[in-house]
Amino acid sequence: MQLTINSLSKTYSNGVKALKDVSLNLSNGMFGLLGPNGAGKSSLMRTIATLQEADSGSIFLDDLNVLQDKTKVRQLLGYLPQEFGVYPKISAERMLDHIAQLKGVGNKSERKELVAALLDNVNLSKDKKKSLGTYSGGMKQRFGIAQALIGNPKLIIVDEPTAGLDPAERNRFYNLLSQLGENTIVILSTHIVEDVSTLCSNFAIICQGEVLYAGQPDNAVKEM
Ligand code: ADP
Ligand code: ADP
Repeated sequence: MQLTINSLSKTYSNGVKALKDVSLNLSNGMFGLLGPNGAGKSSLMRTIATLQEADSGSIFLDDLNVLQDKTKVRQLLGYLPQEFGVYPKISAERMLDHIAQLKGVGNKSERKELVAALLDNVNLSKDKKKSLGTYSGGMKQRFGIAQALIGNPKLIIVDEPTAGLDPAERNRFYNLLSQLGENTIVILSTHIVEDVSTLCSNFAIICQGEVLYAGQPDNAVKEM
């Protein structure tokens, strides 16, 4: 898969220029989006996730016109926003089954198998009956990833997933992310340089809506 972002710009109604002529090429693997708060990372991710319009520019996922074919993009997409709510009284297992059902994944027994595999993947099998309201921040993030993985997405977008996690939870979460298949584009936004250097094959630095650098972490160290 190839994600091609070309000259993307966005100015909010309050006059903030969140994206200025952003162009990036992403291939399969983990791509880091590094930048301080307010850089435009979430704006870019929400636009790729078809949740917000751009003023100009284009985004293509292979031949798919992302800004136009929203329904098709959403079928290929797993999105974990920076903050997401959970229904506190429902168990992880029931919630995943419910989402799988909404996404039209298989019959009851197929869903049961899928949910069990997802929970195992994110190391929540033993907590699957607990209600989501009792989950720690790290457990909630891992649940979020399981939720984002339903339906085998080819494009996975995770927005500052480790904010509020302790170091052990962060490592567990990253182990999980780095296992996500080779035929998938994973975009990870962060303001932590180390996240990018340990996890990502490619990355971009974005600041005040502009791409300051795009390339591989190893080369970046040499060039800076
Ligand atoms: P909605 O589309 O529901 O009206 P908004 O467009 O107001 O929501 O906000 C979309 C996202 O951007 C939310 O996460 C919100 O917290 C955030 N947001 C809104 N305004 C600002 C702002 N001025 N600066 C930073 N983030 C903002
Ligand atoms: P980041 O994810 O890197 O923190 P954002 O994309 O959230 O950056 O924000 C980029 C800029 O756009 C910031 O100045 C922010 O205040 C502003 N912004 C974000 N969302 C909105 C919104 N819905 N309405 C107005 N301004 C916004």
